[in-house]
Amino acid sequence: MAGDAAGGEGRNKRVVATAGVPAEQAGAILTIDLANLRRNYRALKARLGDAECAGVVKADGYGLDAAHVVRALSAEGCRTFFVAHVAEALALGPSVPGCRVFVLNGLPPGSEDACAAAGVTPVLNSLEQVRAWDDAARRAGRRLPAALQIDSGMSRMGLPPAEVTVLAADPSRLAGIETVLVMSHLACADEPINPANPGQLAAFERLRAMLPAAPASLANSSGIFLGSQYHHDLARPGVALYGVNPTPALPNPMLPAIGLHAKVLQTREILGGTGIGYAHAARAANAMRLATISLGYADGWHRRAAGAAFHGETRLPFVGRVSMDSIIIDITALPPDTLHAGDLVELIGPHQSVDDVAALAGTIGYEVLTSLGPRFHRRYVDDQPEKTP
Ligand SMILES: *Cc1c(COP(=O)(O)O)cnc(C)c1O
Repeated sequence: MAGDAAGGEGRNKRVVATAGVPAEQAGAILTIDLANLRRNYRALKARLGDAECAGVVKADGYGLDAAHVVRALSAEGCRTFFVAHVAEALALGPSVPGCRVFVLNGLPPGSEDACAAAGVTPVLNSLEQVRAWDDAARRAGRRLPAALQIDSGMSRMGLPPAEVTVLAADPSRLAGIETVLVMSHLACADEPINPANPGQLAAFERLRAMLPAAPASLANSSGIFLGSQYHHDLARPGVALYGVNPTPALPNPMLPAIGLHAKVLQTREILGGTGIGYAHAARAANAMRLATISLGYADGWHRRAAGAAFHGETRLPFVGRVSMDSIIIDITALPPDTLHAGDLVELIGPHQSVDDVAALAGTIGYEVLTSLGPRFHRRYVDDQPEKTP
C-alpha cells in the first residue's frame, strides 16, 4: 500500500534503501521517491535549455536526506550543489566527487581554512567575508574559488550596492579570489506579476556588470518559471525538485517526491456525547468509531494542520487536537473491522499533497518538508530497472 506512497508517474517502483527506525518499530513510514526527484530535475533542466541546473540541498536536502538527493541528482548530470552551512558542505563531501558545493550563508569567521582545505566554495555575502576569504587564500598560497552574492533587493544576504561599488573601485580586494559565480536571490519569484521581480533583475544586471566577469545566477525554483531572462548561466532550484509547487497560482508542474503513512495504534467505538482528545476539543454527536494513529507534532506534523488521513479513497477526518505523538481520526465512514493496529493510513500521498498539508497548517511546503522528524522509517524508492529481454 505504501509502495505507491508518492503517487505520480510510474507505479512499479522498488525500495533501493531504507533508513531511520526499523519499519516494524516505527510509527510512520516516510517514502522518498528518487525517481520523481530525478524526473523533476530533468523537467527543470529541459525548461532551462542551455543554462546549468544546480541542486539546492540545504537543510539535509529539505529533509529528504542530502546524500541520497545528491546521488540521485548526480546520476542526472547535476554537478553543482548549494547548502546553507559549511558543516552541511563538509558532511556532503564524500558523496559528491567531481561536484562543486557552494555554502549560501557564507563562512562563519574562523571556519575559512577548514573550508579551503575541504575544497568547499563559499558564497561571499559581505566585504568582510571577501577579506576573510582573501586572507585564507594568502595562507593557503593559492587563489581560492568563491561566488559573490549581490543584494539586488531582498535585503537579506549579499553585498549591498555600496559594497559592490567599493569592490569595483578596488579590484585588489579580490586578488586571492577566483570569482566562479556572481549571484543574487529573488524575494518574490512565486508572484509572477510582482514588479519586484523585474526590479531585482535590472539591479542584478547593473551591479554584476561592475564585478569581474563570471557566470551569473539569479533564479530559484519559482524564478525558473518567470522566463528565460531570469535563467542566466545557472539556476538554483530547491523546493521544486522535492515536488512543491513553484507556481502557486497554477497547477503543480512537478511530481510528488514524498509520501507519508502512519500506523494505526488502536481503534475504539464511542457513544454520542463522549469527549475526544485533549481539552475535549471535540465531542461525539452520535456513536462513532475512532482510530488513533502514530503521528503527532513531535514528528513535524504541525499541530494546527487539522485535516484528514485517507484509507483508499475514504477521507478520515482528524477529531480534536493533534497530540505530540498521536492523532485521533474518525473511521466511521469505513466498514467495521476495516482498520487494525499496524495498518497504514495516508497523510501525504495521492490524496493530500505537501502543499495541501502546508495550507492546512497555514505555512508553506518548505516548512512541511523540513519539519519531518527523525522517528520515521524511511524508504527510498526508485524505478524498476528496465527489463532486459
Ligand atoms: C533556498 C535557496 C534557493 C532555493 O530556493 P527554492 O525556492 O527552494 O528553489 C536558491 N537560492 C538561495 C540563495 C536560497 O537561499
